[in-house]
Amino acid sequence: MSTRPATDRDTAAPSPGFVRLGVIGCGLMGGSFALALKAAGLVQQVVGYARSPETVARARALGVIDEEASSAPMAAAGADLVLVSVPVAATGEALQAIRPQIGPGALVMDVGSTKSDVVQAARQTLADRLGQFVPAHPIAGKERAGVEHASADLYRGCQVILTPLAETDPTLVARAQALWQALGTRVRTMTPRAHDAAYAAVSHLPHLLAFAAVRALAGQPQAADFLGLAGPGFRDFTRIAASDPDVWRDILLANATELRAQIRHFRAALDSFEATLDAGDAHLLRELIAEASRIRTQWAAGAYAAAPPSSDPPCTAPPSSTSPR
Ligand code: NAP
Repeated sequence: MSTRPATDRDTAAPSPGFVRLGVIGCGLMGGSFALALKAAGLVQQVVGYARSPETVARARALGVIDEEASSAPMAAAGADLVLVSVPVAATGEALQAIRPQIGPGALVMDVGSTKSDVVQAARQTLADRLGQFVPAHPIAGKERAGVEHASADLYRGCQVILTPLAETDPTLVARAQALWQALGTRVRTMTPRAHDAAYAAVSHLPHLLAFAAVRALAGQPQAADFLGLAGPGFRDFTRIAASDPDVWRDILLANATELRAQIRHFRAALDSFEATLDAGDAHLLRELIAEASRIRTQWAAGAYAAAPPSSDPPCTAPPSSTSPR
């Protein structure tokens, strides 16, 4: 067995910088990533592709991308960093399309809100390039889709979850970590399954409830009157109901199994509130509310390892305009 002394090269931190970024899907998330890299001086050139030529032209006009691509493979060609930032159900098709253009050593990431389905799509499409894919989910965003809402500081102060595969090149995981950290994020690594279970609870169920609450209200004859009387509680609780229908259809369907488990937990909690009301049990009702209030207050104060401290307003402070998914 040959041994050699460690060199600077072995121990040097991976560079967070890249030469050419190819963005597949220049909407809110992809556009914000491009702007963040540019603002941090971490990329020299950005080429972008989206489904409609209008979006690509808008991204160029807004300075989000430097060069327009007329196809996903064209955006990936020659890029040492590729970001796939399309609705999750479209990720497999995008990866399939770009695979022949992924250069050796290029880092490929996504930003999808679900990970088991994305990893499965990567396994089915990337073949010999699978090791270059580092699945990522930045816990940042907002309920307004589209490149016109992209901003360079969307990710600052937020968490990013990476779910590398057993086959993923550790050097590229380290580069992905260095890049996200250079954008001011805190990086965590977990399995796709653990990711999907957690985000079903803290993101996908809350979005489903917000959609359901607005629909339940809208279905009543006095809906317009009620809406005219609504205040900050309604605003804060339902903000995420204004999210993009395509993006959220894909997320809820992709994570349906975990989401159904969370719906059951929620239904049990709702039933216990209803039973307490039926019994007129003021003491128990207060206990139920007090426990929820205490947990929410502790979470906002950063008491839980995975929760961002409240000094990170872009990701936490209600009623911010951001929507961690
Ligand atoms: P967005 O603003 O609507 O951007 C989506 C982009 O993908 C657009 O450029 C769109 O092009 C393109 N696109 C849509 N369908 C496509 C298809 N079938 N093939 C190719 N391109 C397609 O959405 P977003 O909020 O950035 O979401 C992108 C990803 O980020 C999703 O996977 C979502 O789960 C994830 N994510 C979102 C948030 C959030 O808060 N928004 C947070 C975390 C993660 P056109 O404009 O031409 O339609």
